[in-house]
Amino acid sequence: MMALVFYGSYGQTISDILNLVNSDSLDLTLNEFTGEVTTIVNGNSVSLMDRTKGNNDNAADYLVNKFTNFGDYKIERQKFNATGNNIIASRLGKTNPNKKVIICAHYDAAANYCADDNGTGVTALVEMARVFKDYCFDYTLDFVFFDEEETGTVGSRHYVSKIPSDHQIIAVLNVDMTRMGRMMFQFICQTKGILSNWKKMRLRSLPTTNPRLDWR
Ligand SMILES: [Zn+2]
Repeated sequence: MMALVFYGSYGQTISDILNLVNSDSLDLTLNEFTGEVTTIVNGNSVSLMDRTKGNNDNAADYLVNKFTNFGDYKIERQKFNATGNNIIASRLGKTNPNKKVIICAHYDAAANYCADDNGTGVTALVEMARVFKDYCFDYTLDFVFFDEEETGTVGSRHYVSKIPSDHQIIAVLNVDMTRMGRMMFQFICQTKGILSNWKKMRLRSLPTTNPRLDWR
């Protein structure tokens, strides 16, 4: 995955980038995103504890605020029904901007807190984006946060249906429930938005001590 993304001649190595991942930053994002602590969204103090269908607008705005602060990401809010919004944050590739890698996670939840499913996936993506903002890449990166996964993968199905046929997707990395060591799926894609030849790989748990990291 990393080898697909990073452009070697810019003098950056994978270990350089991995060393920038910060456990305090991961813990803060996870605590904020799961409502363990309040956070500031659009200038207001809010709790993101409830991210169930129809109660997810603050979580969407939290992500938009994050990527706005990172800079260098083009942010799109993809509305697909009365309550659902996918959040897409793109970073243009340096040498092959027409080819893209999609890194995605659903950001809705089935109940309160839901740290593992899927606060962990969202946290992993936010941390990746924080680190990646200072680097150049061969390919365009799309960080995609799906809404209403828990009610039938509604957001991700909509997203796939709207991928333009001329977009060249070279890989998709979907991150879900990383704390429990669940399988992370890497989808090697062909053009025209057709996902195929997917294979599995094991994802290490996030280095966190959050007490609510259970099955919720
Ligand atoms: Zn999930």
